[in-house]
This record gives sequence, C-alpha cells and structure tokens, in this order.
Amino acid sequence: MLFHKKPERHVVIIGNGIAGVTCARVLRERDKSARITLISGESPYFFSRPALMYIYMRHMTFEATQPFEPWYWKKQRIGLRQAWVTHIDTEKKWLTFAGDGGGLAYDQLVIATGSKHNRFGWPGQDLERVQGMCSLQELEQLERISDDIHHGVVVGGGLIGIELAEMLHSRGKQVTLLSREASYWSNALPLEESQMVSRVIEASGIRLKSGTELKAIVDDGQGRAGAIITGAGERIECQFVGLTAGVSPNLSALKGSNIPTGRGVLVDTSFRTSVPDVFALGDCAEIVVPGQRNRLEQLWYTGQMHGEVLAAVLCGEARTYDRGIWFNSAKFLDLEWHTYGDVPPAAAPPRAGVQQLYWEAPDRLHAFRLIFEGGALIGVNAMGIRYRHRVCEAWIREKRDLAYVLSHLPEGNFDPEFYRRFERDMVASFRRQHEATR
Ligand SMILES: Cc1cc2nc3c(=O)[nH]c(=O)nc-3n(C[C@H](O)[C@H](O)[C@H](O)COP(=O)(O)OP(=O)(O)OC[C@H]3O[C@@H](n4cnc5c(N)ncnc54)[C@H](O)[C@@H]3O)c2cc1C
Repeated sequence: MLFHKKPERHVVIIGNGIAGVTCARVLRERDKSARITLISGESPYFFSRPALMYIYMRHMTFEATQPFEPWYWKKQRIGLRQAWVTHIDTEKKWLTFAGDGGGLAYDQLVIATGSKHNRFGWPGQDLERVQGMCSLQELEQLERISDDIHHGVVVGGGLIGIELAEMLHSRGKQVTLLSREASYWSNALPLEESQMVSRVIEASGIRLKSGTELKAIVDDGQGRAGAIITGAGERIECQFVGLTAGVSPNLSALKGSNIPTGRGVLVDTSFRTSVPDVFALGDCAEIVVPGQRNRLEQLWYTGQMHGEVLAAVLCGEARTYDRGIWFNSAKFLDLEWHTYGDVPPAAAPPRAGVQQLYWEAPDRLHAFRLIFEGGALIGVNAMGIRYRHRVCEAWIREKRDLAYVLSHLPEGNFDPEFYRRFERDMVASFRRQHEATR
C-alpha cells in the first residue's frame, strides 16, 4: 500500500517588518515542518525601521540595520520573496503580485503590512520633493534630492517629524518644523515635558513653528515643492516638504478583497480576521477589544509582542494578546524620554482623583513626573534620566504609594556611572508638593 505524505501547510506572511518576522521566527521554532514564506516589496531582508534615520546621518550602514545575516533565513527554512502584493483572493487562497510577478497560494495568510504616512489632501501634496519618512524607498528618495535642499519644512510635530528634522539638520540644512499643537507633541506629552522638548529643538537651530498648520504646498514651476503656505497665510520658501503628520495602516494589499477593515485590518485579540485562515498584526491591525475602543498599536515592541502571540495561535494554542502596562521611549535630539503607564498629555482634561508630582532640574534638561490615582502609582515620565522598565512597571502593577516609590526611587535609575544623580532633589520636591496638596 502506498502512503502519500500530507503536504505541509503553507503560511504566507505579507510584510517582513518586526511583526511579520517575529511571527515567522517563533512559528519556525515551534513548528519545524510548516512551509513559511515572507513577502515584502520594500526590501529582501528584514531591517530595523527605527534605525533608518541613522543611515541618513551616516552613523550606520544599511547592512548594519539588518539584525540577521542572509544565511539565517535559509537555515531557518523561511522563504523570502521580494514583491508587492496587489490582490488577495481569500476564496482561492491566492495572492497576486504586481507587474508580471505571478502569484502565490497560501493555506494561512498573515497580513503584516505596516503603516504609511498620512496625507490629508493638502494642495500640492503630490508634487516632487514632498514625501514621508516611513520606508527605505523614501529614505533613498531623500538621499537622491538632498544636495538640492537648502531649506526643508517638516509638517507634523511627532516622533517621526523630529527625526526627519534632525536628519536634515545633521546635513547642515535649514529646517522648519511645523507643529499644529501649541508646543511640541503636547497631544502626547504633559505640558512641561512638551515645553522642554520645544526648547531643546529651538536651541538646536531647528526652527519650531508651534500652533501652525500646513495649508498648501506651492509648485516651484517645475512640478516640485518650492514653498509652503501656513494656515495663517505665511509663505515659507523651501525645496523639500516632509509629511510626518502621523501614520495610518497600509491597506493597499487589501483593495478589492473581502477582508473587513476599519482604520486598519479588523482583528480579535488573537489576531484573527473574520475571514477563515486570514490573520493580521503589527501596525496594520486594528484590534477589537470587547467593551473598549478599538486599538491601533504602531510601535516596534508591540509588533514584536503581536508576532509572538500569533505564532502560538497558528500552532493551535488558545492565546490572546494583552499589551500589559504601556511603555515607550524615544530620543528627541539628545534628550531621552522614558514613559510607563498612564501619563496624561497636556491636551487631556484634568481627571478627578489624579495627583501629578513634577520635578525639573535647574538646567531644565532633566525632569521626572509621578502620577497617582487614589494614592496608587499609575504613571511615570522621565526626561533626560533613564528609568528602568522592570522597576517602574512593578511599582505600577503593585499599585505602590508615594512613600514606597520615594524610598525606592534610586533602584529605578539606570543612567551610566558618573552621571549626575537627582534622586535626593526629586524626593525633597515631591514631598513638598505632596504636603502642599494635603
Ligand atoms: C522613521 C521611523 C522611526 C520609528 N521609530 C520608532 C521607535 O523609536 N520606537 C518604536 O517603538 N517604533 C518606532 N517606529 C515605528 C515602528 O518602526 C513600527 O511600529 C514597526 O516597524 C511596525 O512593524 P510592522 O512589522 O507592523 O510593519 P513594517 O515595519 O512597516 O513592515 C511592513 C512591511 O510590509 C511591506 N508591505 C506593505 N504592503 C505590502 C504589499 N502590498 N506587498 C508587499 N509588501 C508590503 C512594507 O513595505 C514593509 O516592508 C518608527 C517608525 C518610523 C517610520
């Protein structure tokens, strides 16, 4: 009697960013036989997107941003395909590639297509020398036109906006950064921290125009950006416009498919869509959490966590995703920022029962904020001082009170040796503020 070996399932992942790659790697660890294919139009190999700016600033080569050597993928038997997916047929379980790239059949499909920069229909947004800063292609484009840029305008005062401004500034360009908010990123940072970053930006030589919106981009007569007009009617001459007013899920592969989308690809907390054998994760996923607002999570570490959970789900485990206590960190030029838990931004209305204690060093380059609700710590925000994730998370999870946090404050600090320590001043200031509110 002849035995036919059952063909192994083919898991196809569109997107080789952190979410897709983590899913592929963890799936391979757990399932030695599945056929796995990673597809991306952007680059043959996975690279670190947050490191793109360092390539432009010549701190790193592109190769150095790739965490794995090319042989790794062969060894792991993860197939790679560089192509753009233009259509998904979920009935036939078939993907179509752009051009004459043919197609590919799947048994299970993972959509991990990331984000694209927002364009809000501004006049002139499709001119040459107007672009976002999300992809390798956009970095290459910026590199090609760099010599012609004397003055660049960056529209959008968020994390990518300040990076693009820093990139241009590092090459000696004049830079104007437009921020719709009254001070830098005050829709995400508390007021004092937002003002601190605003001061740091201005001190660097980058011109920050707060409370300013883009109205239109003006053609230089040759189809390229030549100036912008602000909401107040001011004209600013420039040879480049960077669009960094946020990102949104990249759904281009889903056009004409029956996979439900909202702002992103709609998934449950196990990253399943409502279409059988189709999953989505990372920046492109919109997570539907019963009883809560749908969530877009557009961060590196959340993409990694999504990938780990989905790999388990693909192996038949009943896993759901729980982000846990929120955290994030970034660098605003030379100013480091670490945040943990619930830190209300400047723009948020005051909340009853929430007490905020804020300390700022006399140099106005170091700050620390503790947020309590009902006497229990709910958030920590540190500027210019490094505070340990593990320690801050434990304080929040264990609902520690002020006395506990102050007596353990030095345990959280992980600034390198010989850095100035501020804990004594912080504790004294927090005690005074607390007494004053009793
Ligand atoms: C400049 C910049 C700096 C950042 N800095 C930080 C930071 O400091 N910290 C942080 O937490 N996060 C940062 N982020 C965000 C972080 O990089 C993203 O959250 C993360 O990369 C998302 O991972 P992902 O796997 O979901 O998608 P992506 O990394 O975007 O990967 C998606 C991939 O899918 C490909 N793709 C899309 N559509 C198709 C298609 N139709 N066919 C084929 N391929 C397709 C894309 O080309 C891309 O390669 C930064 C982002 C940018 C742009």
